[in-house]
Amino acid sequence: MNATEKLIASAEAHTAHTYHPLPVVVATADGAWLTDVEGRRYLDLLAGYSALNFGHRNRRLVDAATAQLERVTLTSRAFHHDRFAAFCSELAELCGMEMVLPMNTGAEAVETAVKTARKWGYRVKGVPAEMAKIVVAGNNFHGRTTTLISFSTDPEARADYGPYTPGFEIVPFGDLTAMRAAVTENTVAVLLEPIQGEAGVLVPPAGYLPAVRELTRERNVLFVADEIQSGLGRTGRTFACEHENVVPDVYVLGKALGGGVVPVSAVVSSAEILGVFRPGEHGSTFGGNPLACAVALEVIAMLRTGEYQAGATELGARLHRELRKLTDTGRATAVRGRGLWAGVDIAPAHGTGREISEKLMHRGVLVKDTHGPTIRIAPPLVISEEDLDWGLAQLDAVVR
Ligand code: PLP
Repeated sequence: MNATEKLIASAEAHTAHTYHPLPVVVATADGAWLTDVEGRRYLDLLAGYSALNFGHRNRRLVDAATAQLERVTLTSRAFHHDRFAAFCSELAELCGMEMVLPMNTGAEAVETAVKTARKWGYRVKGVPAEMAKIVVAGNNFHGRTTTLISFSTDPEARADYGPYTPGFEIVPFGDLTAMRAAVTENTVAVLLEPIQGEAGVLVPPAGYLPAVRELTRERNVLFVADEIQSGLGRTGRTFACEHENVVPDVYVLGKALGGGVVPVSAVVSSAEILGVFRPGEHGSTFGGNPLACAVALEVIAMLRTGEYQAGATELGARLHRELRKLTDTGRATAVRGRGLWAGVDIAPAHGTGREISEKLMHRGVLVKDTHGPTIRIAPPLVISEEDLDWGLAQLDAVVR
């Protein structure tokens, strides 16, 4: 057995099998590149499901983390700390909002958004007790907690976890008529990913998000945008909603907010909406900790310049131009996405998404399949043109 086989066998023996990773054991990383325990190099075209938008060990983020490690790392929210105010005000400003409620993981932030919407519904909108309803989309992915999988339509994510949390109504993604019919006087929120990542990078029809915005405004319902995967530069804008000039009531952020260094997530909204909480009604020991705030502050500063968004637009055009050749030649049945983000449905004759991912791994490129024929491509936004071209040439070669 080589080192890779030994480490995988040991991991398999001692961890619950909730994932089916590619058989590569990473030892070090830099920018868009990974090196495994055998010394082999790989181009990372997944970027931690978009948590690594700024690349592995981005110098600015590592420096921010290192400096903070030498000062203070955790206070809990029992006390204030000196990075907290800046983190909250600067993140709110980046979002064009007023208030921030910090958490750690994406799922926690979506849970927080669900709690925010329900509290707002009872305390501001005046929905009768226990009647609040949230409308969500089919094929959604919002995280793995019991409440969030209660409104998943993925049997694997849901099976044998009941009883499920009530209060959610599922409508097909992109179907405005169904959305209109689902909203009632007890609806407190519509919760959507503006582009569905886990579902295979599904972009809704043009006009859908603005129409949902109009509907929610008319019916006094919160529009909650889960931008955990789509946000923070990935699509060429700070938020995917911007492509349709939509401003939601609530942003849910995570992944890249922690720069791939620490888990940082947040709910960002107005003072009226986040103002519904009183002390003791919600919280997290690690949410908004000094280390998280220090790294996120650097992420926010990097996003403020617009350079990463511009890079994603430019490289994204290159990515989609190349990927279109796969559909033009029948090697892919569909390519979707926006900016430096794509879901590619490989034609069945060329193998499953998993088989393509494994073939790419042997050529030194890492991607991951999602749902049968689909592979997702989401390189770090700092990838060079040459590296992107090389990675796409490997994809071209494995579907020849
Ligand atoms: N929401 C969206 C849109 C996501 O893509 C994800 C993760 O993939 C989550 C929520 C959950 O985030 P986490 O895995 O950090 O809990």
